[in-house]
Amino acid sequence: MKDRVALVTGGSRGIGRAIAIELGKSGAKVAITYNTNEALAAKVVEEITGKGGTAKAFKADVNNAEEVNSLFKSVKEVFGPVQILINNAGIIRQCPLPLLSEQEWDEVVDTNLKGTFTCTRLAVREMMRARWGRIIIISSDAGRLGEAMGSHYAASKAGTNGFAKSAARELAPYNITVNAVTPGYIETDMTTGADEAIRKKQLDSVPARKMGDPQDVAWLVEFLAGEKARYITGQTISVDGGLFM
Ligand code: NDP
Repeated sequence: MKDRVALVTGGSRGIGRAIAIELGKSGAKVAITYNTNEALAAKVVEEITGKGGTAKAFKADVNNAEEVNSLFKSVKEVFGPVQILINNAGIIRQCPLPLLSEQEWDEVVDTNLKGTFTCTRLAVREMMRARWGRIIIISSDAGRLGEAMGSHYAASKAGTNGFAKSAARELAPYNITVNAVTPGYIETDMTTGADEAIRKKQLDSVPARKMGDPQDVAWLVEFLAGEKARYITGQTISVDGGLFM
């Protein structure tokens, strides 16, 4: 991992933050992105550099092709071409299907699925030239199990799972691995707002009977990004206390 250039989208909070810190500890040069939370992103950078690592934060809305383009340019200027891409930025919106507007559908699908595509497309160009790369997509168990009130979210995540497998097949000859990590219920801003009754119902469905920690996801991602995972590609791997099996 030493001196590899890693880009973590949505590294300002939650799972992305834990991944960025873990990669930083392993010696990668870590570029993190944020959409709105500049101050939180700066704190993550401080945390990594404070432990002797290398990191920098970049503003980029994954929904905005121009911002994504300039993100990749800037990361290349500062650290060099991206070698490890963690597509983590994502949003969830709950809405009953009959009331779901096209606008809400587009917002979720564009952020979670199209954002993954636009970042990956830019990253693989350099990875193919270098004949080395790691792409990890933070998808969700919702993409495998479905999610009531979250059909747009589940559809976007199922889409990323198919995208990961397709890219894995296409890029394997270039020594580039592509895997999807599917968390279950992880304690972050995304899940803390949930109603107590919903939360209890969710936990009852988890064999481990507890929420996961962002760190649980970060450990797997760090492994997949490293040399020891060189023969693992096209996989969809859950970190979920047994929710999906
Ligand atoms: P958080 O809400 O805690 O953090 C989301 C991150 O994504 C933030 O860094 C945010 O940036 C960034 N982000 C949101 N929208 C955009 C955008 N348009 N462009 C760029 N960045 C954006 O979420 P989690 O850490 O919980 O989730 C991370 C990933 O894990 C998501 O893809 C989510 O779907 C997935 N996941 C999470 C689960 C959970 O239980 N928490 C379960 C399954 C999957 P900013 O801070 O600037 O707003």
